[in-house]
Amino acid sequence: MNRSEMMTPATSKAVVDEICDAIHARRRFLITSHARPDGDSIGSQLAMAYALVALGKEVRIVNADPAPEHYMEFPGVDHIEIAREVVEIDADALIVMESGDLARTGVLGLEGRFTINIDHHQGNTNYGSLNWLDESAAACGELVFELVQKLGIPLTVEIATHVYLAILTDTGSFHHSNITPRTFDICRQAVEAGVYPAAMARRVFDSNSFGKLKLIGALLDEMDLLDEGRLAVLYLNDDILNATGTTYNDTEGLINLPLTAREIQAVAFFKLGADGDIRVSLRSKYDVDVRTVASRHGGGGHKNAAGFTVKGPLDGVRDGLLKEIVDAIELGIQTRPNG
Ligand code: AMP
Ligand code: MN
Repeated sequence: MNRSEMMTPATSKAVVDEICDAIHARRRFLITSHARPDGDSIGSQLAMAYALVALGKEVRIVNADPAPEHYMEFPGVDHIEIAREVVEIDADALIVMESGDLARTGVLGLEGRFTINIDHHQGNTNYGSLNWLDESAAACGELVFELVQKLGIPLTVEIATHVYLAILTDTGSFHHSNITPRTFDICRQAVEAGVYPAAMARRVFDSNSFGKLKLIGALLDEMDLLDEGRLAVLYLNDDILNATGTTYNDTEGLINLPLTAREIQAVAFFKLGADGDIRVSLRSKYDVDVRTVASRHGGGGHKNAAGFTVKGPLDGVRDGLLKEIVDAIELGIQTRPNG
């Protein structure tokens, strides 16, 4: 079966049914997602966990890294176990959310068991016993929502909160180009179930520390503008973090700020680690495709939000990469809608 066949609605429906059967037939579940979890991975895992508990199942969630600080107060986040290896797995099934392969979980010891693989990224390697891959979903949380409905589980406020969190964050607060009527239909149902969108937006996007505000100032102050202002480049190093009293975790979301300037079509954010690794995050508007750029460097993501990690030094990778992004901008703006 090729990839496009996998994504036809009929096939996707069959996979969802098989996943429902597999869930009903099992009792103990281990849920995980990619390392350095974001709002979609946290929301998808916890929505799934609450749904499984509602069915009377036993659930563990194991992640390689803790959730970003401002997600800690969301229901159930404090139950996520942080571990880089699971030695004894007392589960009948593994459920992996939005992870292209098992290695991306950053958790060792997950191989060789019954695995349900749910993802909305291109390039997923189909490593599961059951693979539900739908690139048309704005967030993995959309797929979890569908699964919860199929399982006949009432939409509690906890499940609705996590589905909404997944969508709110993975769409870049409804900015990215993969938003469909389904996205809003799910959000409508989440709001009917008790989610308060203003509070969600405040908790997710307006929870900055004063240090983070200073970090924003310092990063934007040093921002480079290339390609007649269409490409913004940000750099993060330990000096900036120390000067503003912040940590790497405080950088989340900052990459989106340059896109608020009308001219800027894409942003590259270089985060220089002490180990010599450079974490590159990319964002773009409309049809400017940064996923293709990231995938050429061993990473991935979505058209408007992608990333990868390379070995330094920065000078060796920067110019070639920026040229690729300028080319992507050129290609993307040709098909750009008005606005
Ligand atoms: P980030 O810039 O880290 O917020 O990542 C943006 C998007 O790119 C997210 O959807 C990530 O899942 C995806 N992404 C980042 N790094 C990688 C990678 N190394 N491989 C695959 N996808 C990635
Ligand atoms: Mn996602």
